[in-house]
Amino acid sequence: MDFVVNDPLTWHPSACPLDCPDGCSLEIGVHNGRVVRVRGTRASPWTEGYICQKVGDLGARVHGPARVRVPHVRRGEGWEPVTWDDAMGVVAERFGAIIHADGPEALLPVWYGGSNGALTGGGLDVRLWNRLGVSQCDRTLCATNAAAGTRGVYGEMDSASPADVDHAQLVVLWGANPSASGIHLVPPLKRLRERGGTLVVVDPRRTPLAALADLHVAVLPGTDVPVALAMIHVAIRDGLADEAWLAAHSVGWATLRAAALAWSPARAGAEAGIEPRDLERMAHLYAAASPALIRIGWGVERTRNGSDSVRAVASLPAVFGKFGVRGGGFVASTSGAYRVESNAWQGTSTARRLNLSRLAHELETRRDPSIRGLYIYNCNPVATVPDQRLLVEQLRANGRFVVVHEQVWTDTCALADVVLPATTFAEHADLTTSYGSHTWQYFEPVVAPEGESRSNHQVMVDLGRRLGVEDPMTEAELAAAVLASSPKAPSWEELRMRRAIPFVSPVQFVSTFPDGGQANLSPAPEHLPPPAFAELPLVLISPATARAISSTFYESAPATRLGIYPEDAAKRGIAEGDRVRMWNPLGEVFVGATLDPTLRPGVVCLPKGLWRRATENGWTSNALIPGHVDRLGLGACYNDARVEVEAAR
Ligand code: SF4
Repeated sequence: MDFVVNDPLTWHPSACPLDCPDGCSLEIGVHNGRVVRVRGTRASPWTEGYICQKVGDLGARVHGPARVRVPHVRRGEGWEPVTWDDAMGVVAERFGAIIHADGPEALLPVWYGGSNGALTGGGLDVRLWNRLGVSQCDRTLCATNAAAGTRGVYGEMDSASPADVDHAQLVVLWGANPSASGIHLVPPLKRLRERGGTLVVVDPRRTPLAALADLHVAVLPGTDVPVALAMIHVAIRDGLADEAWLAAHSVGWATLRAAALAWSPARAGAEAGIEPRDLERMAHLYAAASPALIRIGWGVERTRNGSDSVRAVASLPAVFGKFGVRGGGFVASTSGAYRVESNAWQGTSTARRLNLSRLAHELETRRDPSIRGLYIYNCNPVATVPDQRLLVEQLRANGRFVVVHEQVWTDTCALADVVLPATTFAEHADLTTSYGSHTWQYFEPVVAPEGESRSNHQVMVDLGRRLGVEDPMTEAELAAAVLASSPKAPSWEELRMRRAIPFVSPVQFVSTFPDGGQANLSPAPEHLPPPAFAELPLVLISPATARAISSTFYESAPATRLGIYPEDAAKRGIAEGDRVRMWNPLGEVFVGATLDPTLRPGVVCLPKGLWRRATENGWTSNALIPGHVDRLGLGACYNDARVEVEAAR
């Protein structure tokens, strides 16, 4: 397209590819070649014509001072701006030398959900990595524990749609805070309350929706298995279980039944730090309403009990007979409904796999070969990966060569040898699906790239050519291949013309079923004992906020504060605004405190994805989060951090 200077404000269709379930359809307002406004449209019905403020301010990121505008190469402790040709020459020479000396598995690409578009993540990049045979990095920071939990019970059965809230009479919001992330769930939940429906919230915090709910159950993080099993206990005891449905549509009920009978409301209440009567009430409210929907949020999976917790919560609709109707069942990630088969264009690899949640440990301990070079894109691991102190140390250790392709100067850029400027979604084309809505979308650039920034696709073509793996696949050919891989997808020609194509979401046990047709309730979920540092009295949680999407947009965030329950603060002589030291054996964080009565006692809160500048000593919650992973999903356990907090005057 042409980018005209001194033009009037013009609106261009787009879509949000950021790491948020809503997958909004957008229009971007452009004036004089700059992004000046972004608004939601109804092309994706779930967007309902509005978006979050984060993306509303997109222009501040696209044209802001934090932007990486030209390639840079490290010279000692400083940076030298260089041409793309020079920068890519350095990258290819170093990567080539590493491959020659130690083999391709000495290289590790690291990428995540900075862009969930198919053309900018999981496209030509993974195709190149597979062809080179470099080490693979399993992307386990979120969703893998939840997926292991639902898959264990229902195989590949699709999630219900968040939009089904409008058909429900009761919704249980379990470990989700749509007021901060996935905001399009908020109006349907308010409509639910307005029409007399019931809202139950299970969350350690009194979130805005918990404050509106009929029942708020403020569980201790990591105790969801006892809570869900106690609900099943009540169902068995009070004759609320749907025995006929269970006999017809499940296997393993006897196993789950026996496990649930071991968790009385009194025992589960003691474990979860809640009143047994709230557990009883939740079970009876859920049993009495139909349709009844459980939204399983990503807060549930962030502990050592993550996949088991999701498994337990996802079993509730089976036990209580809540499937088979729109507005019933459970909502988790909807991404499976797109049926995209990425092997079709990525190919496959037999190279070894490393776990991103244990990246610091992998860099420290992997041998034969050790990781000598990293290519990092679509993510900011210093701000998002557990065991932050070790990761920072390891990225600069042993002469490791680190390349970062980024939009803005992140904490990870600060540790790189080469930083390459990346385009934002206003500056490149992409094809998006979503993990919380049901619309295929394609968009094109609306402004010229800022500075010399380039898309992932462009850089992969260049890097492949320099490493001897030519790949002539264009973005259009890649988009066509993505769509052709799915029996649910429109044609490339149709999507390119229409830009957004919604499809009907499935209804569980009506149009989507478990593998083999039956829910598998055995083995029963396990509740593991307390995690490392259990002797420390406070649980640190690090949830999403309305200011950022993981670490994206925190480049403009001011210093943050640690939320602490007023009585916990008083016990420690901490007042509003006091400087505190939060610590455990992994490290310490110096930060201001704020007294937060929306927390439950025993829980402190520092947002996830913070950049290092947000705290006084440059360490965030990730510096205190242990590196262990969930036993089935192998994903990060952010809410397993146990800490102490003291005044630091
Ligand atoms: S971050 Fe989420 S709510 Fe905001 S525009 Fe993107 S998809 Fe929509």
